[in-house]
Amino acid sequence: MVDAQALDEVVTFTSELIRIDTTNRGGGDGNERGAAEYAVAKLTDAGVEAAILEKAPMRSNVVARIEGTDPGADALLVHGHLDVVPAEAADWSVHPFSGEITDDGMLWGRGALDMKSMDAMILATVRSWAREGVRPRRPIVIAFTADEEASAEYGAGYLADAHADKFAGCTEGVSESGGFTFHGGTDTGGNQLRIYPIGAGERGTAWLRLAARGTAGHGSKANPDNAVSKLAAAVARIGAHEWPVRLTPTVRAALTELSALYGVEPDFGDADGTVARLGPAAQLVESTLRNSANPTVLQAGYKVNVIPEHASAEVDGRMLPGAEDEFAATLDELCGPDVRWEFQHRTSPLGAPVDSPTFAAMREAVRRFDPEGHPVPFCMSGGTDAKQFAALGITGYGFSPLGLPPEFGYGRLAHGVDERVPVEGLRFGLRVLDDFLRRA
Ligand SMILES: [Zn+2]
Repeated sequence: MVDAQALDEVVTFTSELIRIDTTNRGGGDGNERGAAEYAVAKLTDAGVEAAILEKAPMRSNVVARIEGTDPGADALLVHGHLDVVPAEAADWSVHPFSGEITDDGMLWGRGALDMKSMDAMILATVRSWAREGVRPRRPIVIAFTADEEASAEYGAGYLADAHADKFAGCTEGVSESGGFTFHGGTDTGGNQLRIYPIGAGERGTAWLRLAARGTAGHGSKANPDNAVSKLAAAVARIGAHEWPVRLTPTVRAALTELSALYGVEPDFGDADGTVARLGPAAQLVESTLRNSANPTVLQAGYKVNVIPEHASAEVDGRMLPGAEDEFAATLDELCGPDVRWEFQHRTSPLGAPVDSPTFAAMREAVRRFDPEGHPVPFCMSGGTDAKQFAALGITGYGFSPLGLPPEFGYGRLAHGVDERVPVEGLRFGLRVLDDFLRRA
C-alpha cells in the first residue's frame, strides 16, 4: 500500500505536469522536454537512473529500469505519453494549463485524464517504493513518451526503432485507456454496476487517401468522366457500407462477461442484438464488433462552372485483428475501378490474451480496492503507443486505473473541453496501480 506522501504527490505531480504545456499539433510540432526533465528529476530524486532520449530537439522521451526480486521473471513495461492534444482556453471553465484544484475536489486541465494523471501515478508509485525499500516482483521498465497524439514518430516509434535494447526482456506492457470506473446502470437485482474495462486489444488504424481522376472541362458540357462524381459515388458507398461482424477473442470475452452482469444470454450469431441489451455498457463494445471506415475529408474543384481533373477524399478506417485483408479487399470493391485508394497512415491491430496471469493481476488489483467492482476485458476502438511497442514483441494492455463518479463522462472529457479528474479518483488509481505493479 502506498504511503500518505505518495497520495499527496500524485495530486501535486498531476497538477504540475499539466502546467508544463506539452501541446502536440502534429506534423512534428511539439515539445515534451520540460515534462521529461520533470519526470527525470522525480525519478533521480528516488535513486532511479533515467535517460532522456530524443529523435529531434525538444521531442523528449524518458526511459528507466527498476530491477525486480524474481530473477527469472520477464520484465513489464509501464508507459505513459507526455504530450497532450491542443486546448482552447476561451472554451474552458478553468484554464486548461492551470492544473487548478477546485472546491469540489476536481483537478482541471489538459492531460488530467489523457494522460498526465497516469504519468504522475507512475512517478508517485516508484518514489514510494524507494522510501519503503519495496522492490516489485518483475523488473519494470518505465517509459514516458513524446508524440503519442500524432504519429509516435518522435516517441514510442522512435524508441522501438532506435532503443530496443532499453526494453530487453519486456514481454508485456500497460498504459492508457483502461481500468477506469464505468458506471453501467443497474443489474437485474437493482445493484449499481461499477465496471472497470481493461484494454486487451486495439483496432488498427487505417487512415486512407482516395483519389479520382477525370477529364477537366466546362461545367455546361456533357462529361461522363467527371472526377467529382466518381469520387462522390465511392465515398457514398464507403459511408453506407455495412461491415460484417467479426468477433475477436477479446470482444467475445467482453460480450460474455458483460452479458453475465446484465443477466443476458449472449448470442454470438446476433452480436448487435446482444450489445443492444447491455444498457450503457453497449458503448464498451459497439465500435469493436467490426471494421469501420468513415469518410472525413473531401477536396475537389475551385469554381462552379469548371469540372476539375482531380478529386480526393480522406477516410478514417479501423481494422480488427485478423480482418486486415478483408478491409483492403472491401475498399478495392467499394472504390471500384475509377477511384484509387492508399494507406496514408497504417498501424497493425493488436490482441492481448485475457486469460494471462497479468490480466488476472489487473483484475485482482481493482477488486482489492473496489470489491464490488467488475473488471472486464474490452477492445479499444482506436490506437495507443502499445502498437509501437508491439513491434518489440510486447503485448499491450490498457490499464491506467482511475476511480470516477457516476455521470462523469470520461469519453466526453478526454480530448474534450473541461478535462478534469477527481482527486480522490486519482488516489484510488494510484493504490490500484501500485498494487498491480508490485505483484504482477
Ligand atoms: Zn492518450
